Amino acid sequence: MNAQAPARPVLIAGGGIGGLAAALGLAQKGIRSLVLEKASALGEIGAGIQLGPNAFHAFDYLGVGEAARGMAVYIDQLRLMDALTAEEITHIDLREAFRSRFKNPYAVVHRGDLHGVFLKGCQNHPLIELRVNSEVVSYEQDDSSVTACLSSGDTVLGSLLVAADGLWSKLRSQAIGDGPPRVSGHTTYRSVIPTEQMPEDLRWNAATLWAGPKCHIVHYPLSGWKVFNLVVTYHNDAPEPVAGKPVPQSEVMKGFEHVHKRAQNIISRGKDWKLWVLCDREPVENWVDGRVVLLGDAAHPMMQYFAQGACMALEDAVCLSHMMESYPDDHATALEHFRKQRVVRTARVQLQSRAIGDHIYHPAGAHALVRNAIMRTKTSEDYYNHLAWLYGGTGLGS
Ligand SMILES: Cc1cc2nc3c(=O)[nH]c(=O)nc-3n(C[C@H](O)[C@H](O)[C@H](O)COP(=O)(O)OP(=O)(O)OC[C@H]3O[C@@H](n4cnc5c(N)ncnc54)[C@H](O)[C@@H]3O)c2cc1C
Repeated sequence: MNAQAPARPVLIAGGGIGGLAAALGLAQKGIRSLVLEKASALGEIGAGIQLGPNAFHAFDYLGVGEAARGMAVYIDQLRLMDALTAEEITHIDLREAFRSRFKNPYAVVHRGDLHGVFLKGCQNHPLIELRVNSEVVSYEQDDSSVTACLSSGDTVLGSLLVAADGLWSKLRSQAIGDGPPRVSGHTTYRSVIPTEQMPEDLRWNAATLWAGPKCHIVHYPLSGWKVFNLVVTYHNDAPEPVAGKPVPQSEVMKGFEHVHKRAQNIISRGKDWKLWVLCDREPVENWVDGRVVLLGDAAHPMMQYFAQGACMALEDAVCLSHMMESYPDDHATALEHFRKQRVVRTARVQLQSRAIGDHIYHPAGAHALVRNAIMRTKTSEDYYNHLAWLYGGTGLGS
């Protein structure tokens, strides 16, 4: 415990995976925090999430490695299928060679289970306080403190304010003022189905991507193989952001009339589909405004095509807590080092996520044939080398 720790807590706006991970990371360093969550309960949507080896480094650093490992399904492959021909294009082997190269596994997990691991860790820690129904709408600051202003009219005083309030961050608007997120025009539909409803010949121990013209399908097992996560995306130039709207299956099917029957069959098994129109942002460098710092999607929202948004939020939490421990009496230096260490890596993931959307997930015609020709020739070892910058990096550096 740092004897010089400020008496006031670090305020964290947002109790998603990023905010809770930051609270745990700070607590590991003896720093008190208060999480302010706008919702009336702390939780996550009922869907899956993929975790690269860099996420497991973060779990261990944040003290939840064992609990998180216990929730995960350890898949054997990332498999790429051609959605028009139903042929495999390539796969990346995630077994022993991958794990020994990156010192950690690749896995998939239910979001609720993962969030629950962080929530329990926070609830059990005496240095963390969690408050719901606490929407932070703005902040004020002076030389010695920062005040979070809540929509209720209440104010809360802290030493620093971590804006972990997600894609639509109100605090980012005040700190940076760079307008709303970019609407990508890609519409994603999510469903979770019991494993016995998944076509039997597709119950693979893999995160499988069926790539088609302007559309793709992803599926993988979750929760001890009890369910399968289905995520299907259609680039339909949707103009407005939407989050979690229930839609009928016929609407989901519309974007996939041109793909192979085997791929369509997956969609026909889905139930209770919900729709999101995906958004991201141009990377920026200025994440810090005095005592206020952005983290997770508030700082660097990205398309999900690298499956790394939450992994990057976890890395942020590692880096922030490391810097706070390294510069206990100098928040300005701590935040500046955090910013400098995180901006380039996260910007690279933001930009390359868009690029792989264009060149791997959604190409058509000759563009897709080029994809297939190039990707077919590569071995798993080649892919490990391509991905080493990502999976071999951590919140402590890359
Ligand atoms: C379809 C899809 C698939 C994805 N798949 C993956 C994947 O496989 N792997 C991966 O790593 N990432 C994935 N991601 C990205 C990942 O979901 C996000 O990057 C991650 O959830 C961001 O966490 P966060 O804590 O920064 O933000 P959020 O999860 O958005 O949490 C923000 C929290 O802040 C709260 N809040 C909002 N405003 C306020 C306010 N003003 N005051 C107080 N509280 C507030 C919210 O209620 C919420 O609890 C995917 C994203 C999508 C859309």
